[in-house]
Amino acid sequence: MTATHVPGLPVIEDGWLISTNPATGEEAGRVPISDEKAVVAAVERAKAAAVWWQGLGFEGRKVRLLRWRTLLVERIEELAELAHREAGKPVTDGIIEVTAAVEHLDWAAKHAKRVLGPRKVRTRLLLAEHAGHLEYQPFGVVGVIGPWNYPIVTPVGPISGALAAGNTVVLKPSEYTPVVGQWLADTFAEVVPEHPVLQAVHGLGDVGGALCRSGVGKIAFTGSTATGKKVMAACAENLVPVVIEAGGKDALIVDADADVDAAAEAAVWGAMTNAGQTCIGIERVYAVAPVYDRFVDAVVEKAGKLRTGTEIGPITMPKQLDIIRDHIEDALAQGGRAVLGGASAVQAPYVSPTVLVDVPETSSEIREETFGPTLTITKVRDADEAVAKANDTAYGLGGAVFGKRNAIRIARRLRSGMVAVNGTLAFVGMGNLPFGGVGESGFGRIHGEDGLREFARAKAITVRRAKSLLPAMTFERTPAQVNQIVKALRLLYGRKP
Ligand code: NAD
Repeated sequence: MTATHVPGLPVIEDGWLISTNPATGEEAGRVPISDEKAVVAAVERAKAAAVWWQGLGFEGRKVRLLRWRTLLVERIEELAELAHREAGKPVTDGIIEVTAAVEHLDWAAKHAKRVLGPRKVRTRLLLAEHAGHLEYQPFGVVGVIGPWNYPIVTPVGPISGALAAGNTVVLKPSEYTPVVGQWLADTFAEVVPEHPVLQAVHGLGDVGGALCRSGVGKIAFTGSTATGKKVMAACAENLVPVVIEAGGKDALIVDADADVDAAAEAAVWGAMTNAGQTCIGIERVYAVAPVYDRFVDAVVEKAGKLRTGTEIGPITMPKQLDIIRDHIEDALAQGGRAVLGGASAVQAPYVSPTVLVDVPETSSEIREETFGPTLTITKVRDADEAVAKANDTAYGLGGAVFGKRNAIRIARRLRSGMVAVNGTLAFVGMGNLPFGGVGESGFGRIHGEDGLREFARAKAITVRRAKSLLPAMTFERTPAQVNQIVKALRLLYGRKP
C-alpha cells in the first residue's frame, strides 16, 4: 500500500480502482471496479431493499437517517481526514463540508413527512362528489452520480432527499474520490445493517453510464455540463428522469454602497476555497467604479496572504492544471493584467492565488469554468451593467451581491438558481433552501422542499363520495344535463374579471 503514482490520477489495476493523494501520489485507498453486471446486480438488490425501506414509513426512516447523521458528527474528523488524503482539501475545509452534509441529512429526515406525506385536497365545485388525495411516492431506486470536488456534500444532498422520500440509492462516486464514497455507503450500513439501502459502485464514466441504463427510477447527476449531457442522453433511452447539477461561472457584484472590506473577504473565500474547485465558486467580480480601486486593493491584500499547501490545497485532477494555465494565459494575451499571481501561478499540483483585472469579456477566463483559485475583477459603470455582464454567460448556477439599498433587487435580476447577498455560497449550507441552476448549469433541485419532491412522483387519487349531480364523465349523461353543466360553468366562470 505504499506505491507512489502520478499525484491525483486514479489507477486501475487487476479490477481495482486505486485512488491517489493529489499532493503526494500516495495511495489513498482502493475499491473494486464494478462492471455492468455488478451495477445491475446492485440495482436489483436496491429494488428489493426499497420494499423494506418504504415499509418503514417516514418515521422509521427518519430515525435511521438521524442515526447516520449522528455517526457523521461523531466521526467528522475521520471523514475530513479521508477527504484530505483523497481529494487534497485542507482538513478544516473537509470539516465544513461534513457540516453542510449533516444539515441536509437532518433537514430531509425531519421534514419528509410534512412535505411528502399524503394529504386531502380541497374539492372543486364541478367535481364536488369526488374527494381529492395527493401523495408523493418514491421512484424505487435512485442512482446518484457524483463529482470529486465536494465528495461528501454533493452526494449526501441528493442521497438525503432520495432516502427520506423512501427510495434506496446506488451511488457512483467520482473515480477521483471513490474511497470517500465507499465510506459513506459503509457507515450507512453500520446504522442500517438489515438491507442494502445505500450502496456504492465504482469505476470510470462507463460505470456511470451503466447506472443510467440499469433500471433505476431516477438519476441525480452532479458533475460537468458536458457529462451531464451524456447522462441525459443515456437516461433518454428509457425515459429515466434526471436532475442535473452541473458547472458554473458565478459572478459577484459589488455595488456602490457595499461594505468593501466584507465584499473583498467574501470574494477571496468564494473564489479560493477548495483551491477554486467549487461549482458555486466566485470566478468573476463586477465592481462599480466608485468602489473598484478600494475593492481590488483589499482583494489583493487578503488573497496575497493565502499559501499553497495550507489554505490552498492541490488541484485534485491533474488535467485541470492545463485548463487553469490556459485561461490565465488567454486573459493576459487578450490584454488582462495580473495584480496577484499570473502566468507562473501554476506549479503542479498547486496554483497560487491569481487576481486578474482588465480581462476582456471574450477571454476563456471570463467565459469558461476555470475551477482554480483565480478571480477576475472588472470595473463597471453601475449595477445595471454589472447585472448585464454577470448574466452574459451560458451558465447560471449561483452568485453573490454586496450592497445595501438595491442588493436584493439586483439578486433577483441575476439569471441563476441561487444568490447570496452580503455573503457567498451561504445557500449551500441551508437545508431548507433549494439548490440547482439554470441553463448550462443544469435543472432540477436538490435540498429543501423542492429537493425532497425531486425524489418522489406526485400521485393523484380521487374518491367518489356521492352520486353526481352533473354527470359529465359518462355516456349516460343526457342533453339536459349537458345544458346544466354549461349553465353551471357560465355561473362559475363566465363573468369577465
Ligand atoms: P465529471 O462530469 O467529469 O464527472 C462527474 C461524474 O460523472 C463522475 O462520477 C464520472 O465518473 C461520471 N461520468 C463521466 N462520464 C460519464 C458518462 N458518460 N455517463 C455517466 N457518468 C459519467 O465532473 P467532475 O470533474 O467529477 O466534477 C467537476 C464538475 O462538477 C465541475 O464542472 C463542477 O462545476 C461540477 N459540480 C457541480 C455541482 C453542482 O451542484 N451544480 C457540484 C459540484 C461540482
